Amino acid sequence: MDSLRRLEEIFAHFPGIGPRQAKRFVYYLLNKSPASIKEFTQLVEEVKRSTSECTKCHRFFFGTTKLTSCSICSDASRDQTCLMVVARDSDFESIEKSGAYRGLYFILGGTVPILDKEFEKRIRIKLLLERVSEKNSAIKEIILSLNATPDGENTAEIVKEALTKLKGDFRNSILGRGLSTGAELEYVDGDTIRSALSNRK
Ligand SMILES: [Zn+2]
Repeated sequence: MDSLRRLEEIFAHFPGIGPRQAKRFVYYLLNKSPASIKEFTQLVEEVKRSTSECTKCHRFFFGTTKLTSCSICSDASRDQTCLMVVARDSDFESIEKSGAYRGLYFILGGTVPILDKEFEKRIRIKLLLERVSEKNSAIKEIILSLNATPDGENTAEIVKEALTKLKGDFRNSILGRGLSTGAELEYVDGDTIRSALSNRK
């Protein structure tokens, strides 16, 4: 396969990008000057080099690779009794931006499509169970903040079922119906997130 096709294929694997858009990306880049291409490739490398995955919440954060936990997980002023489970880093970002939540997070790393039996490969369910059963854990409430889509709801069910098998002294709550059916957290505004949080059950 030539490099042009290979690049197309790489773009087609990006989330939400189909083969046609992938082609457009390639031609967009081809129209750029060598200097902009250099800046782009260097930036991708730099972002990769300067970010780490937090060992507690598993989100990516900027910082030296010596740090093992992110600024939120290591912030003692955050509510240590609340753990919010989200699918992706982008969901975390929109909730954090809303300013409506002051607890801790856990990034599942994706969602599980309905009928998919291999959910352990798609989401960090084992790591989540380990996180909530940590010895010194102060977690009292786990808030499942997943998209109000079929995949999001299926994932919430899987997580809920796994959590109920744990002997923990905490309650599960699902982000309330301030979210309309089909809503994706990444795109909802701060007010909607605030109302969904106060309506959680
Ligand atoms: Zn963290």
